[in-house]
Amino acid sequence: MSITSPIQCDVVLALVPTFVDDEVTDSVASTVRRHLMDCSACRNAVQEEQTLRQWFVAAPEVEVPTGFAAHVARRAFAGDVGLEPAPAPVAAAPEPPAGRVLAFSRALVAVAAGGLVAISLFLAGSGGPEVADLDAGKGLQEALLELEQENQRLELEDSASTPEEGR
Ligand SMILES: [Zn+2]
Repeated sequence: MSITSPIQCDVVLALVPTFVDDEVTDSVASTVRRHLMDCSACRNAVQEEQTLRQWFVAAPEVEVPTGFAAHVARRAFAGDVGLEPAPAPVAAAPEPPAGRVLAFSRALVAVAAGGLVAISLFLAGSGGPEVADLDAGKGLQEALLELEQENQRLELEDSASTPEEGR
């Protein structure tokens, strides 16, 4: 940095992006240029910034057909959602396997549902465990009935003997 440099390096470095973008006033630009002639460090910074800018290459301008915006607006109002037309069989080809898998799983569900129906029908028809419960209950009921009959017999004996006692 020479004595003639009116601004400091940190100021120039802060201005470099704006300077490279050519968005500084003429007086600032000339001041920076004067500094760059004396300061290689800041010159390198400017060159790096310019190299960086080269990565962002402006895309070639696409020529827009006349009335393009109006055409797009008309299509949009007509219900065009901008989707590309359905691709030809090439893109549609991978779908059938998925459809087959779905059909297969549907068949599995149907088989499983049918099996459940068959099992419930079988249980309802045979009675299943309920029959065993009824059998056990029948034995208990018979025993209770016998006990009741025994009680009634004893009561009859008592009632038969009571009048004798009352007399
Ligand atoms: Zn400098």
